[in-house]
Formats: sequence, structure tokens, C-alpha cells
Amino acid sequence: MRLIDGNAIAQQVLSEVRERAARLSPVVPHVAFVRVGEDPASVSYVAKKQKTAAEVGMKASLRVFASDVSRTELFAHLDALNNDPSVHGVLIQAPLPKHLPETEVFNRVSPAKDVDGFGTQSIGRLVQELPGAFAACTPAGVVELLRRSGVETAGKHAVVVGRSLIVGKPAAALLLAKGCDCTVTIAHSKTRDLAAVVRQADIVVAAIGRPRFITADMIRPGAVVIDVGINRVPDATKKSGYRIVGDVDFDAVAPLCEAITPVPGGVGPMTVAMLMMNTLTACERSRG
Ligand code: NDP
Repeated sequence: MRLIDGNAIAQQVLSEVRERAARLSPVVPHVAFVRVGEDPASVSYVAKKQKTAAEVGMKASLRVFASDVSRTELFAHLDALNNDPSVHGVLIQAPLPKHLPETEVFNRVSPAKDVDGFGTQSIGRLVQELPGAFAACTPAGVVELLRRSGVETAGKHAVVVGRSLIVGKPAAALLLAKGCDCTVTIAHSKTRDLAAVVRQADIVVAAIGRPRFITADMIRPGAVVIDVGINRVPDATKKSGYRIVGDVDFDAVAPLCEAITPVPGGVGPMTVAMLMMNTLTACERSRG
């Protein structure tokens, strides 16, 4: 069994970003974050992304709105960011309060600055395999982990468990696209005999949001397992009272695998690294 070290691979990506960003001087790639409300996970994700941006020589600005912000006020801010040539990427941290329809909000961001890849244009271009699409950062991180750890994907059967717009669907589109060339199955909560479906996989991408849901009986010996899940489970030995586990029962599954990502330290750091890469790319493109 080989452990795919997401921290180390994310550092490789970030050092490439740092070098390429330095070459753009005096222009500084700028990602503008927008947060609505004080959801603790969102506060910590945005803080982490801002810190990483600073580490790779990028500018990260943040505008926080109260959770009852009107759509008019939020859209006016997004329009201002779209029209500001010093801003190269715009990221609205999800989840959003119920009165703000996510698709509409994501679509308000100019496609050229949609570094999160959630807009309809970005997703359409990704599926059409057109150049210039920003792939959503977590699925892009999944594919980059496979590529940089030397996992052969062409002709392999990838089973993606989860069909969200943020992870499952774009992960499946990327694995299917030319370059990865997997045969792809997408499974979800209505899939019949999930264990039998996942057992067919050469590559499993678990994006379910249920702690240790993928168990050893679902894994074909020799499979590669990428665990996207981030779940808090109670742990009295921790000061916080919880610890983070993935969607895969790591201890039981790992011995069967050719390679597997840990949680934490797998896909998580890659999500942040791919956001930096997308922002850098947006900045480079804006310079022609
Ligand atoms: P969603 O809740 O949006 O989607 C979960 C998916 O899992 C759905 O498609 C759902 O099916 C499916 N599912 C739920 N229960 C079952 C079941 N019993 N059997 C089969 N499929 C099931 O979650 P996300 O995609 O946003 O996130 C998935 C996980 O990834 C979470 O743990 C999240 O925290 C983590 N995550 C990690 C990131 C990172 O940076 N590492 C970034 C984003 C997310 P259905 O559609 O039928 O309901």
C-alpha cells in the first residue's frame, strides 16, 4: 500500500504557483473572497485560503456580508469585482443562506474570474472539454493527486460515489475527459447494491459526507482510493472534542489498496492549492 501524500503534492503545486506568480511582477495575482455570515467552517476555510495566497505571493482580499444581506447588495459587490481589472479571481464561500440561490450567485461571477469553477459556463466548458474552463478546485485536486502520484488512469474504471455539483459531477467529468480517459460510473444514494458497484472500481473517489462509509468489503484488492470526505466525529481525547475522518474506513481499507489518500492530509490541501493555480491562470490570461 502506498500513501498518497496530499500535503507534499500540494506543496509542489504551490511552489510552481509561487514561481509563476513572481514572474508576473509588478502584477500581483489577486483573489477576492466573499463570505456571507459567520459559519465557523466557512470562516476557517477562507482564513486558510487567504494565508496560503499570501505564502505564494498573491493578494487575497475579503468582504464579509451579514447573513441577511440582500441579493441586490451582494450582486452589486460581485459586479464591482467583475469590473475591477486588479481582481483576477472571485470566490464566494458556500454554503450561502437560503434566500440567496447558489446557482444564481455563482453565475453572477464573470466566467473569466470564476476560479471556483461553479458557474454554468465553467461547468459547460469543462464537459465540452473546451480550453479555458476552470475546473472546481476539489475535483481538480483529485485528478492532480492521481497524475502527480503516477496513477495510470487511461482505460481504468473509476467509480465516483457522490453526485454533487461541487465534487462528484465535476470529478466524474474530469476523469472521463481526454487526458484521464477513465471509464466512469457515478453512484449516489439511490444506487442499487452500491458495494457491488464500488467493487468494480480500479479507482474509487469517495465524496459522500458520511464518516467511514466505504468499507473494506466494497474495495477490490489493488484499487486506488481517493477520499474526499471531511467529517467531524466525537473524540473525547481531543481538546476540541472531535476529530476529522474521511468517507472511507481507512484502517480497514488501506491494506487492500494499491494507493490511498489519508484524511486529513489528502484531498484537503489540494483544494487550496488548485484554487491558487486557478487564480494564477486567471491572472496570466488577463495579461494575454
Ligand atoms: P453532498 O452532501 O452535496 O453530496 C453527497 C453525495 O453523496 C450525494 O450525491 C448523495 O447522493 C451521496 N450519498 C449520500 N448518502 C449516500 C449513500 N448512502 N450511498 C450512496 N451515496 C450517498 O456533499 P459534497 O459533495 O459537497 O461533499 C462530500 C464530502 O466531501 C463531504 O464530506 C465534504 O465535507 C467533503 N468535501 C471535501 C472537500 C475538500 O476540500 N477535501 C471540499 C468539498 C467537500 P444523492 O445525490 O442521491 O443525495
